[in-house]
Amino acid sequence: MEELLLVKYGEISLKGKNRPEFEEALLNHIKWILREHPGARIEKAHGRLYIHSSHDTRLLSRLSKVPGIVAVAPALKTENNVGEIRKAAVEAAKRAVETLGESGKKVTFKAESRRSLKSFPLKSPELNHAVGSAVLTAGLGLTVDVHNPTFILQVEVRENGTFLYWTEVKGMGGLPIGSSGKGIILLSGGIDSPVAAYLAMKRGVALEALHFWSFPITGEKSKDKVVRIWQVLKDFDPKMRLHIAHFTKIQTAIMELCPEKYRVTIMRRMMMRVATRLAEKVGALAIFTGENLGQVASQTLESMAAIEDTAGLPVLRPLLTYDKRETVELAEKIGTYELSCLPYEDCCTVFVPKHPVTKPRIERVREAEKDLPVDELVEECVRNIETLTE
Ligand code: ATP
Ligand code: MG
Repeated sequence: MEELLLVKYGEISLKGKNRPEFEEALLNHIKWILREHPGARIEKAHGRLYIHSSHDTRLLSRLSKVPGIVAVAPALKTENNVGEIRKAAVEAAKRAVETLGESGKKVTFKAESRRSLKSFPLKSPELNHAVGSAVLTAGLGLTVDVHNPTFILQVEVRENGTFLYWTEVKGMGGLPIGSSGKGIILLSGGIDSPVAAYLAMKRGVALEALHFWSFPITGEKSKDKVVRIWQVLKDFDPKMRLHIAHFTKIQTAIMELCPEKYRVTIMRRMMMRVATRLAEKVGALAIFTGENLGQVASQTLESMAAIEDTAGLPVLRPLLTYDKRETVELAEKIGTYELSCLPYEDCCTVFVPKHPVTKPRIERVREAEKDLPVDELVEECVRNIETLTE
């Protein structure tokens, strides 16, 4: 009998021809995580992923944050032999009682067997009976309840052995990192952009985060805040990097050379230009932002169009139609909300004029930035980007 973890990955199996690629991406992500769990080993067999490991709660929690995993079941593996399966069933039931039983409450179960190994001598109902009677006579005080059991003892007879499990940890679902290509996320210290990053990762996008930092207008603490947010996001993709772009020179030039009411739009246009250049360097196919329709004055459709005008790639906005409440709920679940609420200023908050244009016309904005040495500023900003990996 061996302890292991069964990895379930639903949506991938729908992908037909792409399946090997998706499995490979998932396998690589899990291998990366297992570097910190030296006792554990992953195996791919018969369309399933198995992690040979003890039922370590820290590892389970990390796996629940891997895009593409639907659930992970701590399981026991034994030989395809009725006697051994009955022994494993008793052990599984003991563990189920330990983890799921509530004091004073009667613990009930039912057995559910499946066989993909058709040569196995017992049919599923017979195996249910064999397993059920072993558990009932083991002196654990359990009874059967087929309608509303405390736990279902799942028994799967497969070519490579029989697997028994009684519970599972829910995963985040979605698609494995990298299976949808690469993107840049414009990461501010706010509530929205970390949630946008999470949603993009959940759909399989490998992200590179880009933060614009205006030292000394915004201090070290505002940078630390973004670094901490990025570290939380790395739980979903440990390879995600953070690029810090020094933005002060660009902002100062905008203040000096452009009409005040277009400042914010032009600043965002500069962000898009820098992001596009970075995307070319790292092979990203899209730019993600935390923008949301109509949430603040600068996030009108007109404004988005004027900003997107300078992006050489699609600009994608996972939160476009979210209510603030929905975004906050997700931020809390991901674990970025409290960090985002820390009070340090962002480069944009310092920079906002009293009367920004809320519905900028593209031609007017282009005209308003005509004195700005755009190429030179972008070039220098990209050259000085600092990249963090840890
Ligand atoms: P957030 O909560 O993500 O800051 P927001 O609703 O406060 O979003 P804005 O501050 O107007 O909106 O920013 C819109 C988007 O522009 C952000 O979601 C983010 O993607 C990007 N952005 C803003 N400031 C920065 C910055 N300093 N560095 C990188 N990206 C930024
Ligand atoms: Mg913001």
